[in-house]
Amino acid sequence: VSASTETPCAWLAGPPAPAVRAHASHKGCYGDVAVIGGEGLQARGMGMTGAALLAASAALHAGAGRVMVALLDAGALPALPQQPELMLRRCDALALDHATVVCGCGGGAAVAAVLPDVLQQSARLVLDADALNAVAADPHLQHLLRERGRQGRPTVLTPHPLEAARLLAGTTAAVQADRLAAARTLADQYGCTVLLKGSGSVIAAPGHTPLINPTGNARLATGGTGDVLAGLVGARLAAEPAQAGAAFAAAGNACWEHGAAADRWPAGRSLTAGALAHSLNAG
Ligand code: AMP
Ligand code: MG
Repeated sequence: VSASTETPCAWLAGPPAPAVRAHASHKGCYGDVAVIGGEGLQARGMGMTGAALLAASAALHAGAGRVMVALLDAGALPALPQQPELMLRRCDALALDHATVVCGCGGGAAVAAVLPDVLQQSARLVLDADALNAVAADPHLQHLLRERGRQGRPTVLTPHPLEAARLLAGTTAAVQADRLAAARTLADQYGCTVLLKGSGSVIAAPGHTPLINPTGNARLATGGTGDVLAGLVGARLAAEPAQAGAAFAAAGNACWEHGAAADRWPAGRSLTAGALAHSLNAG
């Protein structure tokens, strides 16, 4: 990780406190996560249903009270594998006010159509992949995202370096040359938490010293692990008490857990995103 000399930063200090489930708790205590994304083959000749399902599966295994999935292309539904715990919804039938929304794991251009509504909801929000690309391409969505920041609505952006470069209208090389500065610039620009992924993920938010995550390894360099992280951030954000800094704490904790899950992976066993989601801990 390269670091700009002027930017103070800290390493994430340690694992999050283990989740303790109070004896008399119920699923309402652990929050609702709604994943919006996915698309079937007819949309652009590429199926990305798996991305939304990986995020949803991660949220489920990480202990979210209820997990809903709204696929942006109803034609994708017959392709859903058996995962009976997930609650399927039409996007326009999601009750978002009290949910934590994870948006953009798959979805392609269709995400841009739902984002104006999603960004104006009071829901806690995690934006990944196609949602970030849609924001990068549309000044109106950028305005709505800044408005969320001004209103103090909890929002986490989870770009990989290329997605961050698109948001910054720069290059991946420039992002990688000073990852701290890139994450901080985006966080300040939108008034939200930014989790810049890659080896040594950076978590930045206005008013916080940026953090570098020490966990994780190159076994995570495989398709779908970013979707798993987005779902995990969603689950941790859904369970955080509503207070300033909730999004920053959720992103930092989730990032640590995601990397730690890869670090304890048994030698000789392949790490796949689906198996990673199943290995997450609900407490
Ligand atoms: P994505 O690029 O969206 O597929 O996300 C990939 C996920 O794997 C992110 O959480 C990255 O931080 C993580 N990852 C990928 N490669 C590495 C690596 N070499 N070391 C640590 N984490 C990695
Ligand atoms: Mg990704």
